[in-house]
Amino acid sequence: MRTSPNVIITGTPGVGKTVHCEQLAQETGLQHLSINQVAKDRGCYDTYDNELQSWVVDEDKLLDAVEDEVLQGGYLIDWHACDLFPKSWIDLVVVLRCSSTSVHYDRLATRDYNQTKLQENLDAEIFGILLEEAREAFDEEIVVELNSEKDDDVESNCARISSWVESWKRDRANKRD
Ligand code: ADP
Repeated sequence: MRTSPNVIITGTPGVGKTVHCEQLAQETGLQHLSINQVAKDRGCYDTYDNELQSWVVDEDKLLDAVEDEVLQGGYLIDWHACDLFPKSWIDLVVVLRCSSTSVHYDRLATRDYNQTKLQENLDAEIFGILLEEAREAFDEEIVVELNSEKDDDVESNCARISSWVESWKRDRANKRD
């Protein structure tokens, strides 16, 4: 039984997954597992999608590559997709949202994205695609939607997630006694 929870931090590119994970790693001691980085470092890429300027990940390879670590518990899993992870691995799924399309646009415009990729990401956020995927893949009570527009949101979201992590650990410790 893990003594520290696994938390997925997901959402459309540009919503703030990285900033949240970096702050949360400091506040909670959980480890930031950037799936983009893992896929790159451990050769989990399959093909390159020219139109979307992205590598397509081989999900089976990726799951094999992280399984041993994640099953120990204590990870902040940072990726734009979440529905590939087995339910039994995951204790909380946080879906970050950016409700202002102009704020989201400004963030993505600083990236080297082509028009198709930029538009695809803005649309995905407008339609709440990632939230829907999370709700379909995991039990309703472990999926939380949090807004990430302003600096204050990062502070309050991280405080909320940190206190959830603490209470999860306390509950687990009590169950073991
Ligand atoms: P993701 O990892 O989801 O692609 P990032 O964490 O890289 O997104 O954030 C994209 C940009 O938006 C960064 O410059 C980040 O500092 C900024 N940002 C993200 N969330 C917020 C927020 N809530 N308030 C202010 N800036 C934010």
